[in-house]
Amino acid sequence: ERQKRIRNFSIVAHIDHGKSTIADRILEKTHTVSKRDMKAQILDDLDLERERGITIKLNAVELEYTAKDGKDYIFHLIDTPGHVDFSYEVSRSLAACEGALLVVDAAQGVEAQTLANAYLAIDNDLEIVPVINKVDLPSAQPEKVQEEIEEMIGIDASDSVMTSAKTGLGIDELLERIVSDVPAPEGDITKPLKALIFDSVYDSYRGVVLNVRVREGLVKVGDTIELMSNKKTFEVTDVGVMSPKAVSRDYLMAGDVGYITASIKSVVETQVGDTVTLADNPTDEPLTGYRKSTPMVYAGMYPVDNGKYEDLHEALEKLKLNDAALEYEPETSQALGFGFRVGFLGLLHMDVVQERLEREFNLDLIITSPSVDYHVTTTSGEEIVVDNPAELPDASEIKEVREPYVRAEIMVPEDFVGPVMELCQRKRGQFVTMDYLDKYRVNVIYKLPLLEIIFDFFDDLKSNTKGYASLDYRVEEYEPSELVKMDILLNGESVDALSFIVHKDFAYQRGRDIVSRLKEVIPRQMFEIPVQAAIGNKIVARATVKAYRKDVTAKLYGGDRTRRDKLLNKQKAGKKRMKEVGKVSIPQEAFMSVLNLN
Ligand code: GDP
Ligand code: MG
Repeated sequence: ERQKRIRNFSIVAHIDHGKSTIADRILEKTHTVSKRDMKAQILDDLDLERERGITIKLNAVELEYTAKDGKDYIFHLIDTPGHVDFSYEVSRSLAACEGALLVVDAAQGVEAQTLANAYLAIDNDLEIVPVINKVDLPSAQPEKVQEEIEEMIGIDASDSVMTSAKTGLGIDELLERIVSDVPAPEGDITKPLKALIFDSVYDSYRGVVLNVRVREGLVKVGDTIELMSNKKTFEVTDVGVMSPKAVSRDYLMAGDVGYITASIKSVVETQVGDTVTLADNPTDEPLTGYRKSTPMVYAGMYPVDNGKYEDLHEALEKLKLNDAALEYEPETSQALGFGFRVGFLGLLHMDVVQERLEREFNLDLIITSPSVDYHVTTTSGEEIVVDNPAELPDASEIKEVREPYVRAEIMVPEDFVGPVMELCQRKRGQFVTMDYLDKYRVNVIYKLPLLEIIFDFFDDLKSNTKGYASLDYRVEEYEPSELVKMDILLNGESVDALSFIVHKDFAYQRGRDIVSRLKEVIPRQMFEIPVQAAIGNKIVARATVKAYRKDVTAKLYGGDRTRRDKLLNKQKAGKKRMKEVGKVSIPQEAFMSVLNLN
């Protein structure tokens, strides 16, 4: 029977430990991709992913493998992201598998995301195959890493597969181990359809493409499917697998991982984590066990050209289909006009979304300074959630503001414990505990305000520990805090999109830093521009952008024509990401000033 020959698995790892390279080697060995088409890291299909070397969207491919026992097996390989911002996507893909290859770098050993991913896999009842990669490196210490896996994760690592994805060593053994160790899927083919949507992609030709794991039953072209969360029904137009291009099949059955298209036109109708069944023969109960993604960082997004508001709206709607974690709602700013308040998993996620909107949808955007969400009790007893600093009520109307705190686990070699604690202390952290994981590694646990984590914490951590520390965090609770709103005035007028929330102990310093930074980035104009930072009515810092003296091109007149054109073009390009507010042009950098202070 076919089901017995299926193996559904994911590869999980800390970032840079070699997950994508191993996936490439597996694709090569199974001849899924001809040598000619083989380009490095084929699963990372977005340009952006390739450039940044991170995996954002998950991908499922079907591979055929003839094992040493002479039988043909069908592998469904699901690639997962490795960055702390995207752990929700990891859990989505794991729910579609029976096994996981846990890849650990032989020189780096177990790191925070190795642990976090291993726990997600254990939570999903997956069979874990430990893989120690990069054994070709001179600094490789496979035995030590084996010990670490046993001590820190608590699984047997004595039979770990030793690989070098670079040289190809150990990949044959790995393929055999997938056959022997990863269980075949179970699930009754004769029962009503029950399939899990673990990803969905918008395709301009085919509409919405659902990536599904079929748990029970069977689905084929012409069936009428029902999405259980919203009871909407659609007629199936195609089913198949990615190999790695789309290949149509007659049906998908229990145990399969593949795609369904069903002339779904609107992207808002499909929800990742939803269960698909048949309208005329529905299953009793939907699948459970999905963790909803919750944005942690919010920022305003505005088109530079106000006429592009609808384009931005459509682009966000399309992007949301590929990115279940993205949330947005319309917002207006006095300064910037109509735009959206967008929720992200973290700053990397925000960067990625911005770049995709600009590249794939050709939009020029202004993004306001990121913020977390605050729980506010007003003096009249009302409870509100504020994710836009401009909307924080006046100090006189606030009884209490609570901010999100995370539990941060920082894994670091013993030598760097001092610098890590110093950094956490400086970021308003409260020490929780510290454990020795082995002779060299310490897990330092702190309670920290999320606000401090999203601004440059990770970079500071890396530079204070020569890159050795790894960080994993989750929001635990909201706690009362002494926070104030800082307003920024340009030319005497408050610019709502520049205001931010800050702890009162840091307020004066931040105000001064911001003002001097804005003075640098706001271009000179024909008149002087006063820049002020204020808390309520009180000005805490001020500076002046001086007026410029002459027309920049004046001294080039009569000179080299191409040089002048070049200069003008340069000015034009620079202008693209500027917003006129009153009489002042504000460049994109100004809105990010809060991020770049030290
Ligand atoms: P991912 O972030 O886990 O997907 O890691 P990648 O597959 O992108 O690999 C990260 C880096 O490690 C890349 O520069 C790879 O070329 C390199 N790399 C991957 N596997 C090996 C290996 O077995 N040996 C060596 N020396 N380098 C490797
Ligand atoms: Mg990768």
